[in-house]
Amino acid sequence: MIIVMQKRAAEEQVNRVFERIKALGYKPHPIYGVERTVIGAIGDERGKVRLQSLESMPGVEKVVPILQPFKLAGRELKKDPTIIEVEDVRIGGDRFVVIAGPCSVENREQILQTAAAVKKAGAKLLRGGAFKPRTSPYSFQGLQEEGLHLLAQAREETGLPVVTEVLAPEDVPLVAQYADILQIGARNMMNFVLLKRVGHIDKPVLLKRGMMATVKELLMSAEYIISEGNQQVILCERGIRTFEEYTRNTLDLSAVPMLKQLSHLPVIVDPSHGCGVRSLVAPMAKAAVAAGADGLMIEVHPHPQDAYSDGPQSLPPDEFERLMHQLKGYVTLEGRHL
Ligand code: PEP
Ligand code: MN
Repeated sequence: MIIVMQKRAAEEQVNRVFERIKALGYKPHPIYGVERTVIGAIGDERGKVRLQSLESMPGVEKVVPILQPFKLAGRELKKDPTIIEVEDVRIGGDRFVVIAGPCSVENREQILQTAAAVKKAGAKLLRGGAFKPRTSPYSFQGLQEEGLHLLAQAREETGLPVVTEVLAPEDVPLVAQYADILQIGARNMMNFVLLKRVGHIDKPVLLKRGMMATVKELLMSAEYIISEGNQQVILCERGIRTFEEYTRNTLDLSAVPMLKQLSHLPVIVDPSHGCGVRSLVAPMAKAAVAAGADGLMIEVHPHPQDAYSDGPQSLPPDEFERLMHQLKGYVTLEGRHL
């Protein structure tokens, strides 16, 4: 339920509504707008009609139900877009943010070289996997904690905040020590224990769409994180499985405007995993700008042919730089800037 307070409701009245929501067994989630405060009362769907009685409390204008199943991630409760701040980078505002880096952190030289190259080209965040979710147990699993150390060094040298994946709930405290944004990968989008765990940290979470997940399921996974208290969620479209065989996945760009309509959360696009083919990354990156994305995540490797993972979809630094240059015009056309 959404409890809409009157424009000039006193703080005292808001507090009393808070207490009443808790007494009824629900969790209050306030949103302080310029004009008025609205409070989401979230909890067990059964018995929510009891919240209707709040309408008679002083300072309350009305009580309206939230129709969508994603109560906190949806636009019904929060109309204004959520902007996520990491150092001086703002994701979800009028800037278009590019996250770039290798699929996996492989060694010191590789990550430092890539970090310097993507920074020079205009990327605002560095990506790199230290814990890798691989289809085969015999494939490179990532440098793990050593990889996190190397990412921290790359951040120190370039000033770029770091995005890296966390695979298991027990690793969350360790990864959160190093990462500026924690990534939940496609394979873990429905790992509800992991989602709840990152719901308790005070760092943004980049949530990738599962390869067989609907838009609604992605938003329900975001809801798991937000309902535990962490509102800093970035959604990422990274392609879904279809019958197409020329591409690794089918990049569902229609999900971008759909997500933006349904949710206030920032949405970014990963054309690297979305296509799995290097030559398709630039065209789909440009299309993502037109679809209304707030940013991109792109895999870049100094020598893609030697990459431990995802070489065929990684851009070499010169191609990435060319793409960044081309993106400027597209981003300007959308009324944003890089
Ligand atoms: C990745 O970002 O390297 C990755 C493994 O992505 P996804 O979870 O989308 O496959
Ligand atoms: Mn990858």
